[in-house]
Amino acid sequence: MSNRKITILGGGQAGLQLACGLLQKGFDVKVVQNRTADDIRTGKVMSSQCMFHTALQNERDIGLDFWGEECPTVDSINFVVPGSGGKAIDWNGLLDRPAQSVDQRTKIPVWLKEFERRGGSLEIKDAGIADLEAYAAASDLTIVAAGKGDIAKMFERDTEKSPFDRPQRALALTYVHGMTPRPDHSAVNFNLIPGVGEYFVFPALTNSGACEIMVFEGVPGGPMDCWKDVASPQEHLARSKEILSTFLPWEAERCRNVELTDANGILSGAFPPTVRKPIGRLPSGKVVLGLADAVCLNDPITGQGSNNASKAARVYMDAIVDHGDRPFDEAFMQATFDKYWDYAQFVVGWTNAMLQPPPPHVLNIMGSAQAMPALSLRIANAFDNPPDLFPWFAVPEEADRYLQQLAA
Ligand SMILES: Cc1cc2nc3c(=O)[nH]c(=O)nc-3n(C[C@H](O)[C@H](O)[C@H](O)COP(=O)(O)OP(=O)(O)OC[C@H]3O[C@@H](n4cnc5c(N)ncnc54)[C@H](O)[C@@H]3O)c2cc1C
Repeated sequence: MSNRKITILGGGQAGLQLACGLLQKGFDVKVVQNRTADDIRTGKVMSSQCMFHTALQNERDIGLDFWGEECPTVDSINFVVPGSGGKAIDWNGLLDRPAQSVDQRTKIPVWLKEFERRGGSLEIKDAGIADLEAYAAASDLTIVAAGKGDIAKMFERDTEKSPFDRPQRALALTYVHGMTPRPDHSAVNFNLIPGVGEYFVFPALTNSGACEIMVFEGVPGGPMDCWKDVASPQEHLARSKEILSTFLPWEAERCRNVELTDANGILSGAFPPTVRKPIGRLPSGKVVLGLADAVCLNDPITGQGSNNASKAARVYMDAIVDHGDRPFDEAFMQATFDKYWDYAQFVVGWTNAMLQPPPPHVLNIMGSAQAMPALSLRIANAFDNPPDLFPWFAVPEEADRYLQQLAA
């Protein structure tokens, strides 16, 4: 048991998972969160939050999976590239173990309650630098897990790890009921429309029950970058269906009878993927440690953000517990982030690569998977473990060697 005091600014996927885990290990934990459970439950959707096995297991390990039975499973990854009036590429890779997506509007309010039930101290406040000074003075360790919140800008952008200084996709989410299920098993149906963007869709659980989440990733300035003039939720739904009718008729077909889950089941926006330095220095000289999206923000194209948040929270929890009574100094902070980065560098590399027009060797890999079940399986399961894509997904010679090996 430890009575060391940890303050976490930001009660989202990473902050609350870490907070609840640390309470279980006997730490004294405070979470500062700027939106109440009711604000979150009744507010706009924030994510599509599809989480793969390892990330889900982190939640199960600390007793935070309250929806395992109720939430539909995502059993495979299906990849399609349209071409000449139909599908130029179409393959399906089964996941070894299912993925699931629980709407953060459903999950976070329950986690906030659970955090307090476990003895955590919750403060509802939109915290700023002066507040952080006070938390840092009163805590053994202060962590900032504020996601895309402005306060994350206190961490210096790491230019070497951040190749983009502007958004790479126009993003939109549409949560619906009534979509026709896929014929065989469930999937993340991922469609890549060259030059236009990506559309993916999968089953999930929201406040009103099982639903499907449609995710649009439009190339800036292209026909799927089309959300700015949308004036109402119904227009947002209509625009979503128009995109599918134009580019992906097989997906439009599934949407004949869809309705929004609720007027807040929509989102549109854009942000530049950004990695920041993990140690934030306050005016007093005290330091705080950044966690998850606050310091490692990815485009949603590979659906990794919540997975990263879960994995980062796990790495940080283990590091904090293993540190015993030693001070949580800068060396601890850097080493903890570095441990996470050992993993996250691959997620960032893969995600940023997917935002670029695919080079020939990637086209070859994605096309070959249709005739090579072992390859489709490996790509599908890499969503749970992106380092398994390296080096062969990134290096043309390695891709050739691997494909030849599979062909033999
Ligand atoms: C369109 C879209 C689709 C996505 N799809 C997926 C997907 O399919 N799979 C996946 O894994 N990930 C997905 N993500 C990403 C995923 O949702 C995030 O990466 C994940 O929620 C990050 O967790 P976090 O704890 O770092 O931040 P968050 O979950 O954003 O939590 C941060 C919390 O901090 C609070 N906060 C902010 N500032 C302050 C402040 N000053 N004071 C107090 N509190 C503050 C916020 O209100 C929030 O509750 C998607 C994201 C988007 C935008």
